[in-house]
Amino acid sequence: MRFLETKELYKIYEVGGQEVHALDGVSVAIDRGEFVAIMGPSGSGKSTFMNIIGCLDEPTRGDYFLDGIEVAGLDRDELAEIRNRKVGFVFQGFNLLPRTSALENVELPMLYNNLSAAERKKRAMDALRMLGLKGREQHAPSQLSGGQQQRVAIARALANEAPLLLADEPTGNLDTKTSVEIMELLKGLNSASGITIVLVTHEPEIAAYSRRIIRFRDGRVQSDEATGSS
Ligand code: ADP
Ligand code: ADP
Repeated sequence: MRFLETKELYKIYEVGGQEVHALDGVSVAIDRGEFVAIMGPSGSGKSTFMNIIGCLDEPTRGDYFLDGIEVAGLDRDELAEIRNRKVGFVFQGFNLLPRTSALENVELPMLYNNLSAAERKKRAMDALRMLGLKGREQHAPSQLSGGQQQRVAIARALANEAPLLLADEPTGNLDTKTSVEIMELLKGLNSASGITIVLVTHEPEIAAYSRRIIRFRDGRVQSDEATGSS
């Protein structure tokens, strides 16, 4: 079985008595350790797809398997549990808790993992150090630059040993130099730790860091190609 596999996923919304097919039969398989970019015009279903593979939302119908677990059909609590164990999120808006230190932000998902407080802290400190944030552990997000906040979000996924990292426009709020730093970091992490990365981007230069590009159009996969990136 593949690491991540969707089979004929549909997400259908009722809008003013009309059906909107946000996803219209999406079948995608991704192996452990892949680095995949999702592209496509606004409204093509990228966010909906990410929300479902990130266990934030359920499909209307279709199957979804993540790391051997059948996700479609789970209830809210089960979904939350899988999400906490399996998925790290790096979003455009950084989605860190605002009045909470970098350290606490990184520790948060580990609260669900039966780790001792000491082990949680050790893992979080190690991850922050690896991402060049030593000395910033007690800083709140507002005291950190955009690039630093993004690195805290990456540290959070790492410390929790999430096998899947989802990134939705992770460089959307960053300048070019910082975007390159973050992308180099994600690429290095993918090679070194084998974490599977799925990233949404509008920018070809960002997608070029991935090894495979899946293009969405009208809720369907339009194309799925290797990039040639090593
Ligand atoms: P993208 O991320 O590619 O911009 P989305 O997944 O956000 O696309 O949206 C796909 C389609 O589904 C769009 O037509 C959007 O308007 C619609 N859609 C997404 N979420 C909802 C929702 N909660 N209610 C109704 N329609 C939605
Ligand atoms: P992105 O910047 O990722 O493309 P969008 O603007 O497409 O984000 O959508 C942001 C969020 O709003 C999505 O998670 C989606 O579920 C929701 N959304 C998008 N379109 C609609 C809609 N027509 N009605 C309700 N919610 C929507």
